[in-house]
Amino acid sequence: MVEDIIIDVVGSFADGKTTLVRALANESTLRHSEERKRGITIRLGYAHFFICKCNKCGAFSRNEKCETCGQKATPHFRVSIIDSPGHRTLMTIMLGGASLVSGAVLVIAANQKCPQPQTEEHLEAIKIIGVKNLVVAQTKVDLVGAERARQNYKEIKEFLSKNGFNDMKIIPVFSINDINIIELIQEIGKFTVDEEKSNEKPEMLVVRSFDVNKPGTEISKLSGGVLGGGLKEGELGVGDKVTIYPGIFIKNSWKPVNTEIIQIQSEFGQEQKAGPGLTIGVKTKLDPSLSRRDSLAGSLVTSNEAPPNFKNKIAITYSPLAEKEKNVFKKQLQKNEVVLLNVLAAKVLGTVSSVSNDKVGITLNNSYLPYYTGDKAIISRKVENVWVLAGSGTIYD
Ligand code: ZN
Repeated sequence: MVEDIIIDVVGSFADGKTTLVRALANESTLRHSEERKRGITIRLGYAHFFICKCNKCGAFSRNEKCETCGQKATPHFRVSIIDSPGHRTLMTIMLGGASLVSGAVLVIAANQKCPQPQTEEHLEAIKIIGVKNLVVAQTKVDLVGAERARQNYKEIKEFLSKNGFNDMKIIPVFSINDINIIELIQEIGKFTVDEEKSNEKPEMLVVRSFDVNKPGTEISKLSGGVLGGGLKEGELGVGDKVTIYPGIFIKNSWKPVNTEIIQIQSEFGQEQKAGPGLTIGVKTKLDPSLSRRDSLAGSLVTSNEAPPNFKNKIAITYSPLAEKEKNVFKKQLQKNEVVLLNVLAAKVLGTVSSVSNDKVGITLNNSYLPYYTGDKAIISRKVENVWVLAGSGTIYD
């Protein structure tokens, strides 16, 4: 069976992510389907490809002819790659889509000292989110001598073990010449997918939203609003009736919106049903003006059977990144401190209303948050006008 998997490529912006992704996707074999041209492209993922498994030797390949022994290989994964902004100040954007991710490729360039601040923060985020499938691609090895490459390898090794990732594979790659990319494919092929997740209630996280109509389209020909994102768990299918939280703000309060799914498209084409591991564009019966210009980004889409909690106050058990609390923030979370919260795809400001031991209460500033008890809340605190990842907690109320 072909499984779907979303992989995040993280690392500092100058580390050669784009070239690496091109090499992974082996662009000559990318399948372009006609459906993609019909207008609800998602623009969330920036590459997608198949990983096949050889029927004879078991090696993973980027196409149906084994790159190791030449025999026939069968599709194993449909891989969607999402891009994470390399800039530190954009970290909180990365976190929005991160709960959709099952694996990550951490890109580290050999021509810089490791870790760069961005790399460090990305790894912290990966740890907090709980991404288990990880591999390091050491890039730009061709730009430095063998000595520096070895030195850098040692730096990476130390950085990883300091963070508790002693067994993580480090693969030196030379993306432009396709050297060792197949080794990286072997590691990604071994990533594991949590199949249980498809059986849960549907939770779609909206990362983007669009109005796909050209200006001046006749009302009778208008297409409904399109939501771009993915399922954290459960499945959604064409014809499903769903609710979007927090919905729209009218008369001083938030009102969840009901709608129906009329089309689902992934990077691989039309889908009748979609589960976790795919970046999807979902066309709905929604008034397209409601989804214009990412206005529904951060929303949660659920079935009507399992409504989430929907409040402007949450209580969490909080665990800070201890070293950072000491060296960067220089003090513990304070009552009345304004924090930035990432919960599911939502990103909202809140004010700390109570702190006692590891229990923290937060009141949201002018917003309502849909969540399920047990969901993760990621907290960023402000340092010199930049939101810096500070810790995470589990919502218990
Ligand atoms: Zn083979």
